[in-house]
Amino acid sequence: MSSALVPPTTLASADMDALRAEVRAFLSAEIAAGRLTPWIDTWLTRWDEDFTRRLAEHGWVGMAIPTEYGGRGRTHLERFVVTEELLAVGAPVAAQWVADRQIAPSLLRYGTEEQKREFLPRIAAGECCFGIGMSEPDSGSDLASVRTKGVRVDGGWAITGTKVWTSGAQHAEAFIALARTEPLDTTDRHAGLSQFIVDLRSEGVTIRPIVSLSGDHHFNEVVLDEVFVPDSRVFGTLGNGWDQVNSELAFERSGPERFLSSFRLLAAEIGAVSEGRLPARTDLGRSVARMAGLHALSQNIAGALQRGEPADNAAALVKLLGTTTEGDIVEVVSARLGDEFTPGDDDGAAAASELTDLLRAGLHQRPGFTLRGGTNEILRGVIARGLGMR
Ligand SMILES: Cc1cc2nc3c(=O)[nH]c(=O)nc-3n(C[C@H](O)[C@H](O)[C@H](O)COP(=O)(O)OP(=O)(O)OC[C@H]3O[C@@H](n4cnc5c(N)ncnc54)[C@H](O)[C@@H]3O)c2cc1C
Repeated sequence: MSSALVPPTTLASADMDALRAEVRAFLSAEIAAGRLTPWIDTWLTRWDEDFTRRLAEHGWVGMAIPTEYGGRGRTHLERFVVTEELLAVGAPVAAQWVADRQIAPSLLRYGTEEQKREFLPRIAAGECCFGIGMSEPDSGSDLASVRTKGVRVDGGWAITGTKVWTSGAQHAEAFIALARTEPLDTTDRHAGLSQFIVDLRSEGVTIRPIVSLSGDHHFNEVVLDEVFVPDSRVFGTLGNGWDQVNSELAFERSGPERFLSSFRLLAAEIGAVSEGRLPARTDLGRSVARMAGLHALSQNIAGALQRGEPADNAAALVKLLGTTTEGDIVEVVSARLGDEFTPGDDDGAAAASELTDLLRAGLHQRPGFTLRGGTNEILRGVIARGLGMR
């Protein structure tokens, strides 16, 4: 953990500033052309494969994938800069998110040469979208209790079970499913788990929508009924699923999406204050200061990943602090909007409507901030264990 908290001395370079400016210019042009409407929590809620392909053409998808596998061979720090800009504006990045964030690095670490050659170039081209096949109806925090089973059959495995809360499964090509391939050993519950790359268009896969309170459809229940997965799609080593899934979670937890989900709302609040429609309050300064701190911490994690150092505990800490902050931003705006906002003229009415729309979306999305990718209670346990406590 301590190594991941080294000050990011290499980050403030002119190259990084130039990259940031280039991404900002691209995003401004997208907004001006009406192809991008800034929103919140877009890495989960805004799936736009055309936008993802345009980003890929600029080399901003699969940035950290080596060039030999069709990626751009850029650093985790460069990827961090691009990611932050996309999230800060609220760009529709859900289509590339899971594949770019956690599947590509997992493939690089555990995939066979054939799997790398099959998936990585298409991920970098923005043409291959993945979901996450971990949670089940009775297995969320306690992931080792998954009941999905893999049974050996001729030439591969038959996978049977139910996954739930599978974001984007209705669009994704595949997910990596965690399944039990050996009977449960009560003395070592983490043994006997394996991962499989499951093509979501295979026979035996049923994807059922789970509609959110907002009326939107991001989640799914994915039922696997003896779905055949060939040996070539076994992911990593049979029986090593627990270690692999934890390594995947480290990538899932470590990025700036863990503090920027509601950033558009904060930006709209700042806009309203600077135009005199909302009074300045200390809450606002506190939110901005927390953002600045999280930016620095999250950047340090990108630095640790670049150096190949473990960052699991630091990532858990930043996710805990970050998701709490992004939820608090929603709470602060919600508390003050009712009685402090002055719409004034027509521009003011438009600004009011933007703020209220963002707030409504924020209130819908907020409960998920501290649940997805591991709840805050679970992360506190991870951090405590990382600090050597038992
Ligand atoms: C927006 C969103 C998107 C998601 N997308 C995906 C996805 O794409 N793929 C996927 O596989 N999953 C996904 N999930 C599922 C997510 O990973 C789980 O919701 C999460 O791990 C919690 O599991 P659970 O919902 O089963 O809650 P439970 O594990 O049942 O927990 C219920 C409550 O009990 C607490 N609790 C549980 N165990 C302990 C403990 N030991 N100590 C203290 N408190 C405890 C938890 O903190 C929580 O508050 C998503 C969830 C959300 C909200």
